[in-house]
Amino acid sequence: MTESDHTPARVVRGETPTTDIAADVLVIGAGACGCCAALGAAEAGSTVLMVERDRRPTGSTSLSGGQIPAAGTGLQHAAGVEDTAEILAGDLIKKARSQNDETIARHIAAQSAKTVDWLASKHKVPLSVVENFRYPGHSAPHMHATPSMDGSELLTCLLSAVADADIDLVTDARATTLFVEDGLLVSAVGIERPDGSREVIGCKALVLACNGYGGSQAMLKKYIPAMLNAHYHGHTGNQGEAVQWGLALGCRIADMGSYQGHGAVVTPQMVHLGWACITNGGYQANSEGLRFSHENEGYSEQAMKVLAQPGGVAWTIFDQTGHELGAQMHAHREAEEIGAIGTAATVEELAAKTGCPPDALAKTVADVEAMAKGELPDPFGRDFTGKPPLSPPYRFARVTGALFHTQGGLEVDLDGRVLLKDGSPCPNLFAGGGAARGLSGPADWGYLSGSGLLMATNLGRLAGKAAAACAKSRDQL
Ligand SMILES: Cc1cc2nc3c(=O)[nH]c(=O)nc-3n(C[C@H](O)[C@H](O)[C@H](O)COP(=O)(O)OP(=O)(O)OC[C@H]3O[C@@H](n4cnc5c(N)ncnc54)[C@H](O)[C@@H]3O)c2cc1C
Repeated sequence: MTESDHTPARVVRGETPTTDIAADVLVIGAGACGCCAALGAAEAGSTVLMVERDRRPTGSTSLSGGQIPAAGTGLQHAAGVEDTAEILAGDLIKKARSQNDETIARHIAAQSAKTVDWLASKHKVPLSVVENFRYPGHSAPHMHATPSMDGSELLTCLLSAVADADIDLVTDARATTLFVEDGLLVSAVGIERPDGSREVIGCKALVLACNGYGGSQAMLKKYIPAMLNAHYHGHTGNQGEAVQWGLALGCRIADMGSYQGHGAVVTPQMVHLGWACITNGGYQANSEGLRFSHENEGYSEQAMKVLAQPGGVAWTIFDQTGHELGAQMHAHREAEEIGAIGTAATVEELAAKTGCPPDALAKTVADVEAMAKGELPDPFGRDFTGKPPLSPPYRFARVTGALFHTQGGLEVDLDGRVLLKDGSPCPNLFAGGGAARGLSGPADWGYLSGSGLLMATNLGRLAGKAAAACAKSRDQL
């Protein structure tokens, strides 16, 4: 079945049909947000059921670098890393130029240590602090990752925590329909199986953890037309149902044009480089051998800058140190393994292998070297002096800009409760992760690296806990 053959997302008001099965808390989506929501709800004493459209959960969490920012964690403390929630909140707000929801940003930053420590200690997710490089805009080593910096490893750990907690996960089950009673109370969810058969699952509270709309051409056309024809590197099953249900219920959505892009996806193979190769003095030149931007403002906004170059491509140029730092990430190692990263002993060889005009490329390389030595200002405003000049052999890869993850979504309160247009909360509907409005403000430049899993894990845990309390309160009615 293609996406267009599926039953569209819809809300049905009135009497709830007979349910096949029921749980206190129903969670739609088995990514980082869904797993954290399910664990949070189960710990609070609820019966929990997760539904996942795929046979095996492979959402954007499993495609990601698996790095979760947090501040003031036990892991940071043990590693001697000083960090606070105020620093993380400040970074989130600064990157989004104060155009995100500061209250949510501060709240999520304040919760982040609790969530990461909970995942590491209670749920045995083997996280450690990433100390040897920092993403643009990170004033402290906020990132925590599993050993291979591979989102599929993170998701495997989360799913095994879900299994250990005896939480039921129904796969091959695409949620299509919210059944709503008494105005706005979600009483059940209709799911559709790959063979077209349907079932109805009753619930007392519902958590939407089914991410954003990066997989929906129609929604991209409406909300992010600039990325409609770009490569989408996230999970294609994320079709925007959370927003569609929310709109049908009269909920608030915000920042719909915002997204997480990435400016170093190797092409034509489509695997992303670890951004550490840029933060460590690497840079980008177009096919004319010319730099065109401040590459280290953020990998998200770099996507459009690369797409604006001739052919929509650029060469990322780095050295062995940057390569080794980047190769901590699973995706970067994969790019190396499939032969997408080249080596050149000299600038002449680099020009020959990339096809860039030799004179122009030699000037670009020499200029950046002078910038790293503090002898020349960068016309794009980047400070190269914090790292040594690149030392040959050069490493290089042909890259393009891609869409990773949409950042607009349902507005929620501090417990992940979905808000209606008048600002009041829905009685029993919660959302987190990519289903909720992100922390990036209105555009691509506001994404602080790690905001995606930050919102997925923290809002997931909080929404799960609050959904359990909501389900309990409904028992007492
Ligand atoms: C290549 C890449 C690298 C990234 N690296 C990082 C990183 O290092 N750090 C970071 O913080 N963020 C990163 N991100 C962003 C991060 O992956 C996302 O923000 C995060 O995974 C969102 O989690 P989620 O649980 O909301 O969504 P997902 O992990 O996508 O989970 C949603 C699940 O819902 C399921 N689903 C969707 N619709 C339905 C439906 N109707 N019924 C049932 N199930 C449904 C999907 O199949 C999916 O399994 C990256 C993203 C990409 C694409």
